[in-house]
Parts: sequence; structure tokens; C-alpha cells
Amino acid sequence: MSDNIPVKNIDPSAKKQPENTTIDLYASRKKIYVKEISGFFQRIRTGSLWLLMGMYFMFCWISINGEQLIYFDIPNRKFHLFGAIFWPQDFVLLSWLLIICAFGLFFITSLFGRIWCGYTCPQTVWTFIFMWVEEKVEGSRNQRMKLDKAPNSAAKTYKKVLKHVIWLLIAFATGLTFVGYFYPIRELVVDFFTFNFIGGWAYFWILFFTAATYANAGWLREQVCLYMCPYARFQSVMFDKDTMVVSYNPNRGEPRGSRKKSADPKQAGLGDCVDCGMCVQVCPTGIDIRDGLQYECIGCALCIDACDQIMDKMNYPKGLISYSNENSLEGKKSRLVRPKSVGYGLVLLFMIVSVIYGVTSRVPLELDVIKDRGALYQLTGMGLVENSYTLKVINMADKPREFELTVSGLEGLTITSTTTFSVNSGEVYSLPTSIEVDPKYMTQTNHDIEFKVIALDDTSIQATSDSRFLGPLNY
Ligand code: SF4
Ligand code: SF4
Repeated sequence: MSDNIPVKNIDPSAKKQPENTTIDLYASRKKIYVKEISGFFQRIRTGSLWLLMGMYFMFCWISINGEQLIYFDIPNRKFHLFGAIFWPQDFVLLSWLLIICAFGLFFITSLFGRIWCGYTCPQTVWTFIFMWVEEKVEGSRNQRMKLDKAPNSAAKTYKKVLKHVIWLLIAFATGLTFVGYFYPIRELVVDFFTFNFIGGWAYFWILFFTAATYANAGWLREQVCLYMCPYARFQSVMFDKDTMVVSYNPNRGEPRGSRKKSADPKQAGLGDCVDCGMCVQVCPTGIDIRDGLQYECIGCALCIDACDQIMDKMNYPKGLISYSNENSLEGKKSRLVRPKSVGYGLVLLFMIVSVIYGVTSRVPLELDVIKDRGALYQLTGMGLVENSYTLKVINMADKPREFELTVSGLEGLTITSTTTFSVNSGEVYSLPTSIEVDPKYMTQTNHDIEFKVIALDDTSIQATSDSRFLGPLNY
């Protein structure tokens, strides 16, 4: 057997461009007129769309203990999430949460392809709402195509203006709600319409998100998925031959061709695809799924609904386009559970358990001890050894608390400064502290000690911090 790489002769003249020819690498966008379709997967998407929109628009209006369900209070550095308060010190948990989301996405993608894109991605959700408005105002796919080709008229202008006004209203509601997660929504609505903002930042961000929603869902649409979204580019890394994706079955569908409903496709030498083009007309990214898996496919399954309707009409079995995988289509054995997905699943489970443990065992109190660097120790008039520290106590609860300070690690230690103090919610309280001890208890120059702060109203809330107690050399 030869180790040489097989050589294929290529005739360079076959590919040669005529001289002075410029190849334009930019392809201008062709407007896609998406045909409305109903069906099983469209019903699932409509359900998920209402659920997600409902959550987005309602969560900022729901309150727990007088605080918004989700509220990022940037000026006070507090983050309210479902009744719990998180502080900048909790960012580790937030990072873990983001990592979990990323792994969750990998896990789901390795099993079911881009179902995130097709059913839950905000770009898809808002684009489908905008397309629904377009359909209601300008009519069906054919009517919209006709309208765009028609010369300007009062009726055309009315429809276009109405569509854009509704789009802008939805975009404005989206922008206002988004800012409502960073500024109390009830005050935001009042302040917005009474021009009561200090500075103009809230106006800026509301307008920014209004414009972004209007442009992305109204104008850019599939361009965001094709050219701006990084996820479309690296999804193939998570795919394998067992990943369930929206697929056309060429073994069953080809050779494609139109025929009468009464005709027997076998006798006509045809497959089940009647080449009606419905799967292309309903596709929001304008691709033909019959060309195979393409990175443009967002997995929305509209082509499945469309093709199933045609199969029903032709009295053929449904599923010419379906959720399937490469192995099944090639007639090979396929497995939903496989090492890669099990790996993603286990990592995901471990991280979820860790974060739940981290959140539930989290104590809303932090203590830092800084030893006074000015003097290692002092000797008092009574002959005692004294050390000074600055304690930083952070109360991360949503209410002020009284605390008590104790110290341990060396017999005879006494705190000579304040031992009980009050800290407001979210406050970083600075407490200068001095402790002293009779030198007879010191067996060395350097003793490890531990400061402890305990909440007086709930002794389970306590924090400790280690430090050192220093003394003279002659022991
Ligand atoms: S909808 Fe189905 S039958 Fe029609 S062209 Fe597409 S694959 Fe063929
Ligand atoms: S081919 Fe088009 S319609 Fe079919 S799932 Fe992909 S994006 Fe949706």
C-alpha cells in the first residue's frame, strides 16, 4: 500500500477568470418574504414565545418583600434576584451561573442541535413577533410581495407607516422594560413621561434599546443569525452524526418532481418530494433544507410543518423533513445518549449542584482584618502587649444588623475597643480595633489569632478572619 497522498490533476484553465474581471465578494441582501404556516412545531414556538415574552415584560413588575423580582441596583451595588440579594462579592456565583448557561447550551446543542436558536433566542422571539405584525398589517406573503412592487399610493403608505409604528411601539416597550431592570420600573415609567430623570442616561438607554430592537427584529432579522451571531459559527463543534437536527430525507424524497395527487410516484420514477417549494417559502433564513445541513439553519422547524401539510394533502406519510440525525438518514444505528452528551450532562449537573450549594450556604456577612502596619505592637502603661487592627465588616443582608466582635487564639486576649456595633444593609463598616494581652501568656513573638463577628439577632450569621498577634522578642 502506498503512503503517498493521492494526486488529482486540476486543469488551471478551467477555473481561470477572464482578465480584468473583478469578483464582487459582497452579496447584497435579498428580502425574504416568509410565508406564515401553522403546525405542531409552530404551536410549540408560539407557546415558548408567549412564556418568554410574559417573563420578560412581567418580571420587573412583580415584587417580593417590596423589591422587584429581578433588579440590578447598580448605584447601591445590589442585585435582587428572585428575593435574594447578591453583592459584587458574589460575582463568583454569577460567573458560575453564566458558565452553567454556556454548558447547558452545549449540552442541549449536542443532543438537539440549534433548538435554542429556533425557539428561545431573543432574536428569534422578537423577529417572529415583528413578522406576525407584518403579516397582520400587510397581508400574506404574496400580498406583501405585490405591495412592495406596487407604485406608491395612499393605501401602501398607510400600511407601511402603520407597520413601522407598531414595530416602534413594541421596540419602545422592549427598551423601557430592559432599563426597568436597572431602574425601579414604576418610577421609571413615571419619570420617563414627566421628564424627571437626573441626567439623560435613562433616555439614552431606552432609545438605544428601542433602536436596537427595531433594527434587529424589523430590518436585519436573519442577517443577525447569518453574520453577527458567533454561535452559528461554532455550533458544528458540538454536532456529531447522532445530533438531532432538522433534516430532509433524500432517500425518500428524491428524485423530486411535481405530479398529480392521484399519480403513483413509484410508477413515475419519483420520490415523495413534490418540489412545491413550501419548505423554502416558510424558511425565515431563506434556505432550502433539501441542500443538506447548513449553518444558516436556525432549527425553527417551520419547514417540517410546511412539508407535513403537503404530505397530508398528497396522502403521503409525514416526516419527509423531520428532526433526525445523519446516522439515521444513512440507515445506521443512532444513539441519543453518547459519551459527549453524557460528559456535558455530568459537568452541568456538578456545576448546578455546586451553585445551589454555594447560594444556599452563603452567609450575608463578610469580615476582613487588616493589621496596623505603623507599629508591630505597643507596650501599655500596665505592661501589657497591645496590637491594633482595622476590621472591615460588610453586611450583605437587606436590613441593618447589630454585631458582636470576639477574638480567640491566645489565652488572656482582651478587646479594648468597641465590641458591639451596627452596620447598615450593604455598608462596608470600618472598625478600628485594639487587643491586648499579658506578656506572660505569650510563648513566642508571633501568635495566630481569629476574629469572629456574630449577628446578635441570628447567631447562625457569623464570619471569621485570621490574623496575627505580635509581641517583643524576649520569651
Ligand atoms: S415542502 Fe416537502 S414536498 Fe415541498 S419541496 Fe419542500 S421537501 Fe419537497
Ligand atoms: S431550514 Fe429554514 S425553516 Fe427549516 S428549520 Fe432551518 S431555518 Fe427553519
